[in-house]
Formats: sequence, C-alpha cells, structure tokens
Amino acid sequence: METQESILAIALFGWLPERINEQHLLACGFCQRRVALWKFKPEDELNPQREHRWFCLWIYGIPKHSPPVYQQLMANLKEK
Ligand SMILES: [Zn+2]
Repeated sequence: METQESILAIALFGWLPERINEQHLLACGFCQRRVALWKFKPEDELNPQREHRWFCLWIYGIPKHSPPVYQQLMANLKEK
C-alpha cells in the first residue's frame, strides 16, 4: 500500500496519533487500543481494521442499532 493510501486507511479506521515518552503510537478512542509504531519494521504492513479490539464500535458498530463507524463515514463520503 502506498504511503498516502496507508495514511488515509489509518484515518478512515479512526486512529489518532499519540506520543508517549517521545514514542509514536496510534490510539483508538472507542476501544482504547494503542498500537506501538516502533514495533513495526518497514516491511511490516499495519492493518488498521484488525488492530482494533473485538468490541470496537469503529469496526463492529452496535448490532441491530448502528453500523460500524467506518461504514457510516464511507457512506457520508460517497454522498458528497
Ligand atoms: Zn477501536
């Protein structure tokens, strides 16, 4: 995946940048998952969907009530 596509995918799946002790992380405000970017080698590919926890609203939504947040976001982008 190209760099710009990777950044877009990370944003689309709700990750926000965070910094702790000069180390860079990605953070999810729903499931509180933190991804330590320094653990990834350049050849590793981060999957922004699979890094969320199993219960995350961003990926799974609320069954029978609300679709996953990323699907709502994509639907809004398609409308514009
Ligand atoms: Zn999450």
